[in-house]
Amino acid sequence: MTVDKAYELISNAFAGGRNAHGYLIVGPPRGSGAQLVERLLQWMYCRQSPRGCGKCADCRRVNEHAVPDLHWIEPQMKSRQISINDMRELENEVYQTAYSGGWKAAVIVAADRLTMQASNAFLKTLEEPPGQCVFFLVTDNPDALLPTVRSRCQTVMLDQSTGADLSDEIQSVVIDAMREFRPGNVVSAMLAADRLTAFLAEKKQEIEKLITKESKDAGEELDDKTLDARISSIYRETRHMLMKGLELWFRDVMIMCKGFDASAGIYYREAGDILGGSCPAGGWAAAMANLQIITDINRQLDRNMPDAFVFQNGLVQMK
Ligand SMILES: [Zn+2]
Repeated sequence: MTVDKAYELISNAFAGGRNAHGYLIVGPPRGSGAQLVERLLQWMYCRQSPRGCGKCADCRRVNEHAVPDLHWIEPQMKSRQISINDMRELENEVYQTAYSGGWKAAVIVAADRLTMQASNAFLKTLEEPPGQCVFFLVTDNPDALLPTVRSRCQTVMLDQSTGADLSDEIQSVVIDAMREFRPGNVVSAMLAADRLTAFLAEKKQEIEKLITKESKDAGEELDDKTLDARISSIYRETRHMLMKGLELWFRDVMIMCKGFDASAGIYYREAGDILGGSCPAGGWAAAMANLQIITDINRQLDRNMPDAFVFQNGLVQMK
């Protein structure tokens, strides 16, 4: 559903005292998911009429994360995990009386990053929720949550984003790799595959360094297996974003092939010139087949086939 619709439904439930204690909002944690949560929190803390004006000092405090009764939990910068310590801290806070005498609320951003221990600790809080307290869990990967956590929350599915949450880095890697790519030209396919593979290799090294350093700094004694699992989970996420970026690229090429102008829902608008020249000789049908190849590449990577091989093999097949 849209953010507006979800906002209407949930704020009405609050107004009628029929609200849930936990909401699982499925949507991009930095996109529409965050937007919905902020509007709901403004509704909860706003004292104007109509509530949730978005302009008053209370509403502004929500946006600035400066409401004392409102707690935000986000994955740690580097390990991208939400630890049991984070959840214990949260627990202590929500069981205290609200400063304002009103609602206490907590937002768990990217709730799929709860570690197993953190999930179990949180589950206990969800089972015996403090009065006048509500939890908002935001994630675009609900399957990664414990089923018991999921079932204690009311799920709100937001409409799929169109990829507006791709980082600038990913976008520019995609544009660079695709700049000289000509479907059907083997040399250009190899070159594009090399660029994509090199980016991933570089990322992997960065992630390895970060995670190793972070666990050392935290004084954690991690065995190689746990360390590898952490590294590969973050690596897979980066690769997933790259694939999403490529998928959007080839979708754009398809739209351009149809002869629509660049304003018609094109994601890589700033690369319109390159996109315009990328339509394969086989036209729209070929562009559609190429988009399917991107899906295949993604599936093969998920099966742990070697990156370089999968990209070369896939891009060479494009016509
Ligand atoms: Zn307000």
